[in-house]
Amino acid sequence: MAKQIVDVNVTGIPSVITAGALDEDLWSAVLAQLDEVARHIDLDPGIHAILRHPERELTVAVPVEMDDGHIEVFTGYRVQHSSARGPCKGGIRYHPDVSLNEVRGLAALMTWKCALVDIPYGGAKGAVRCDPAHMSERELNRLTRRYTTGILPILGPKRDIPAPDVNTNAQIMAWMADTASMLEGQAMLEIVTGKPPSLGGSLGRRQATGRGLAIVTREVLKRQGRSLEDTTVAVQGYGNVGATVAALLHAMGARVVAVSDVSGGLYAPQGLDVPAIDEHVARHPRHLLEGYRAPGVETLTNEELLTAPVAVLIPAALEQQVHAGNAADVQAGIIVEGANSPVTPEADRLLAERGPVVVPDILANAGGVVVSYLEWVQDLQSFYWDEEEINAKLETLLVRALNDVWTVSQGEGVPLRLAAYMLAVRRVADAIRTRGIFP
Ligand code: NAD
Repeated sequence: MAKQIVDVNVTGIPSVITAGALDEDLWSAVLAQLDEVARHIDLDPGIHAILRHPERELTVAVPVEMDDGHIEVFTGYRVQHSSARGPCKGGIRYHPDVSLNEVRGLAALMTWKCALVDIPYGGAKGAVRCDPAHMSERELNRLTRRYTTGILPILGPKRDIPAPDVNTNAQIMAWMADTASMLEGQAMLEIVTGKPPSLGGSLGRRQATGRGLAIVTREVLKRQGRSLEDTTVAVQGYGNVGATVAALLHAMGARVVAVSDVSGGLYAPQGLDVPAIDEHVARHPRHLLEGYRAPGVETLTNEELLTAPVAVLIPAALEQQVHAGNAADVQAGIIVEGANSPVTPEADRLLAERGPVVVPDILANAGGVVVSYLEWVQDLQSFYWDEEEINAKLETLLVRALNDVWTVSQGEGVPLRLAAYMLAVRRVADAIRTRGIFP
């Protein structure tokens, strides 16, 4: 069943988007995946057992005085899956249906993602069960501050560093940083990332995930001896991630022929004028593609976009878009996962039999966490880089990760997704083995 995901924009005014069903028991799925990877890499059973258990879990009651004076008690979580490779890192999600098992699964995925891009972090995730679409900015402010106070004993720049996730944003990170600073009696801005640049946030953070996708797409094409200039691209989702990757690939010379959002899609075999579309979206009251008209541009549905005749497909909207029912019709030779889990495991198997290269989410959309890491480094050293330097460092880290995954994939004859997980789990296991078991 479709779920409502509420996007709170920077001004705190919620707008609602509809998403496909989130995984009901993500934790079971993550454990099954770990078990499969463990078999492939012959993982030590003791280390396997450690990785099947989150290191630390905290559930907190979050009482909030609502604007009408009544008190509501929300439930908040922070799960630290692993700190083997460094302080835990992971976002905070506000959602009415979030569960502890979902947070556990998301925390473990952060452990793998940070290890894969080889940044010195473990993995964590946090959440509050709440419906931000029905809360005022003042209520969200109070909720955030009380939740932060509840989980503060296990946070810290060298312990656990939260970031934005679904329905949280730079403003919420600013409130978290302020709450920690007030309670500790000292500046603690480096306790969260994804902050506004005026409060120690990094330049380039907003575009980081889309930029990472564009870099990864260019590198995969390069490995296939192809150039961006001869490449057609379809992008599903025209929000932060989708619009950024479409704009960058267009600027890099690729032919972006199809884009879509919740209002539908646009298709032009000769290539879309992406800057003109951006102007339209900026002017649209709800920042949608609907209503855009230009010569040679047709409309298409989201389903049609997924199976359009293109070289590269970038699903950057929702989970589970390519599934057993449409995988056989996907014509793209390269699928770069912008959203998390846009390809179901069953579709993944069907695609693997047919041959398209699937660049997994854990690698393709890691640009955000890489720039979060760069933000933390800048905060710790209290010295800030310009955007050019940040983009260059992002590129270095992502290209290195792609090279590493490619080498494992070729060397062991496995698809990129399995290669990415094998590499990530091996790195975490190495850290555990090298540190030894305390005491
Ligand atoms: P966003 O809210 O800015 O944009 C989402 C886009 O998806 C919008 O264009 C929306 O219209 C579209 N959409 C919503 N429902 C749709 C539907 N039913 N059919 C087609 N399109 C639909 O979100 P975002 O930050 O761009 O994130 C997009 C995806 O990437 C999400 O799955 C998110 O979890 C994932 N992701 C984001 C980041 C990040 O840094 N923003 C990092 C990693 C992964």
